Amino acid sequence: MPVIEPIIDDYERADINEHISRLLRDLGNPEPPLRLEVVRELQKLDLTYYSKSDLNLLDEMAHRAKMAGHKISSTAQSMRDVVNEFGLKGLLMLKEGDKRIFIDDDVVPLKRRFVIAHEILHDLLPWHRSLLIGDNETTLNPTFHQAMEAEANYGGRQLIFMGDQFRREALDCSFDWKTIASFKDRYGNTLTTTLWQMVCERDPQQPAFGLISRHPYHADICSKAGNENVAYFPRSRGLIDRFPSLSHDMAFAAVTQHATTKKRGPVGEGESVFYDANGEAHVFEIFSFSNTYDLLTFGVYKSPYVPATQVA
Ligand SMILES: [Zn+2]
Repeated sequence: MPVIEPIIDDYERADINEHISRLLRDLGNPEPPLRLEVVRELQKLDLTYYSKSDLNLLDEMAHRAKMAGHKISSTAQSMRDVVNEFGLKGLLMLKEGDKRIFIDDDVVPLKRRFVIAHEILHDLLPWHRSLLIGDNETTLNPTFHQAMEAEANYGGRQLIFMGDQFRREALDCSFDWKTIASFKDRYGNTLTTTLWQMVCERDPQQPAFGLISRHPYHADICSKAGNENVAYFPRSRGLIDRFPSLSHDMAFAAVTQHATTKKRGPVGEGESVFYDANGEAHVFEIFSFSNTYDLLTFGVYKSPYVPATQVA
């Protein structure tokens, strides 16, 4: 996944949300956490975990991919190369009416929910099914493919946070780590996904960002960021619209400014000033938390900035 996901326009969002609410309605609008095996049963989707060392299974996957028209050579060895090269965690494949999700068994159980939900969305959204039937010129276009991935990520999160229900509940709660932790437990998802949903969906018009990054004092935290400081930078619509120039590097600088050397738990908090599209200064509240794998931060809009000398 890129640091910043492509923006999905309002029409597409509404369409994705309509498919998800219909699905939840068909399931009788159950209470969270959503059981994905029930969703798969409704969608007639089977699930197989694969190991990158299981050459027979990789052979089978390569065979299906070839039947689906993908340009993957049919030997297990090269399928393993494909899986490794693209960091593939999940795949949805079709063979003679059998629809099957393949998940890398290296993915830890709690993270599997999001990967499975992502694959369910490729099946749920009618305009994604062309992915299963085979690539054509449009789907092979990298921009188009990135947009589909962003849609499956967005829809996957909407699914495991049960459509509108998360927003309705989250708006009644304050924006803090305690709320994020309680929604993590209630919906049964990872802290990172819950942070993401909180930032983007609690109140989309409120400027807010999340940052999944390195810890400024502990280089071993957030290895997934590679050579960068930041792995992911989710932003609310309000932030994108009002603070288009606020970059992940600027957000990380704010994190560094407030961070303590603590390796676990709350790492730092404070206020930082960012400029909006009109060049006016505004204050954000920044809170960072380390789960020892990643440094997780959210920044929420507070108020216009008033220089100290003007305060009575
Ligand atoms: Zn995908």
